[in-house]
Amino acid sequence: MFSLCSKLEKQNINSLVDCTRDLCVSKGLVMRKRDGQSPTKTYMFVPCSLLPSPIPKDGFQLLTFLQPHINKLIHDVSQDDEFMSSAFKNVIKVDDFTKRLYDIYKASKASDKQRLDFGILRSDYMFECVVDKSGKEFFNPKQIEINTIASGGIKLGSGLSSVHSDVLQYAKMKELTAHLPKNESLSRIAHGFLTAWKDYGNPNAIILILYNENKPNIFDQRAVEYAIYDLDEHIIVRRKTCWELIASIALSPDGKLFVDDEEVAIVYFRFGFTADDYIDEKFWDVRLKVEMSRAILCPSIGYQLAGCKKMQEVLAKPDALERFIDDVDVVQKIRNTFAEFYELEMNSDGDNAVRMALTNPDLYVLKPQREGGGNNIYGEDIVTLLSEIGNDERRCAYILMEKICPKPFDNIFVTASGHQKVQAISELGTFGVILARGNDVIENYSADHLMRSKSHEHNDGGIGSGLAVMDSPFLV
Ligand code: ADP
Ligand code: MG
Repeated sequence: MFSLCSKLEKQNINSLVDCTRDLCVSKGLVMRKRDGQSPTKTYMFVPCSLLPSPIPKDGFQLLTFLQPHINKLIHDVSQDDEFMSSAFKNVIKVDDFTKRLYDIYKASKASDKQRLDFGILRSDYMFECVVDKSGKEFFNPKQIEINTIASGGIKLGSGLSSVHSDVLQYAKMKELTAHLPKNESLSRIAHGFLTAWKDYGNPNAIILILYNENKPNIFDQRAVEYAIYDLDEHIIVRRKTCWELIASIALSPDGKLFVDDEEVAIVYFRFGFTADDYIDEKFWDVRLKVEMSRAILCPSIGYQLAGCKKMQEVLAKPDALERFIDDVDVVQKIRNTFAEFYELEMNSDGDNAVRMALTNPDLYVLKPQREGGGNNIYGEDIVTLLSEIGNDERRCAYILMEKICPKPFDNIFVTASGHQKVQAISELGTFGVILARGNDVIENYSADHLMRSKSHEHNDGGIGSGLAVMDSPFLV
């Protein structure tokens, strides 16, 4: 695929790298440095690519078009008890984390609050390359996952587009900035908060950001807070850790949620998506209390479950999408973005899938029901794990997914340790916002994008783990 790297004059690179670092810091694209596992209170620019990376324009437009349909799909799945129970029935036998989420989901459903659901989703895709008989290449988006809780990169995505626009200008390629799609995810997502907060109906009620102090990307969350203030300076946004909530949270008899005696309109989760977050049993009590309240949850536990890896596999089965979407064209377009999934249930299909994975592990990714990077299993580790599990129900905790192999292209990564030329592959995420109460959809829109790239040699790739860098799409 077309790459901008070849257009750079060699002598420009060092000064462009310096310029990129300064642009990142000036535009607030910073994160906390890590000292071992813990983030410190010193800061560094967010590692990024020097140049934007190529993404096919038609694929990009398709994903933007599909995002509201995916928002609605997740909403409808989360409302469908029968579908959820069938999807998770075997997972919860062997995966305690998913079981605990599922138990709270059931308790919450039983209390029937008819509250507003507020989702900030991010669907992630890689573009697989298919070559036809004449040698022509086609790049098809394949969905990696749908994030339904704590979808990050809201500020970083839009910020990087702006950095790259300036870098192209410095590199005397200003005319190429026309290939950079606009990216207003931060303000579009803040708009969702404002609408949800107004819907709650108490001008004194606060927005609560529940966060994990051990995450380095604090400014991505702070940016959302500041963008909400920009829209309405009267809204109060508080940030709390789960430790702080244990002592300060209360539920009134009519289901109102209070923190330090302030009524809560919205709880925004930047916490709670991984089992490691629940380091104390009391954290589960907090989660249950919040879920049983009338506060608007971003997201509800139903959305979190609908974004589990298992749901990807279930939604890829024949007729699953048709259960939720009437428009056959939309169904087909979404299905085309699905990779192949091979179920690992305790039946002959599951046995076959295990055999295939043991024979050709490099063709697959084995995924547990976990979020946040670093949990997937690849290559010989698949063989080790599946051999150890043997013919045991524990395999139901995982999904087996076809491995997507995008075509690498040249770029330069700018990191704390300098800059390196890499053969990169990219992952494009499209944001979506939905506000719905039962069947009544109040807002549902696509909210621009985020892109990350990594060297094609790495399997997993999170910004936090240092393997991936922030990037932005250059439409070709
Ligand atoms: P997480 O919740 O940890 O982000 P993902 O499903 O997004 O889980 O996987 C993490 C990373 O692993 C992705 O960002 C991508 O780089 C890689 N990955 C996941 N699934 C696939 C796949 N099917 N093919 C190729 N790479 C994948
Ligand atoms: Mg991911």
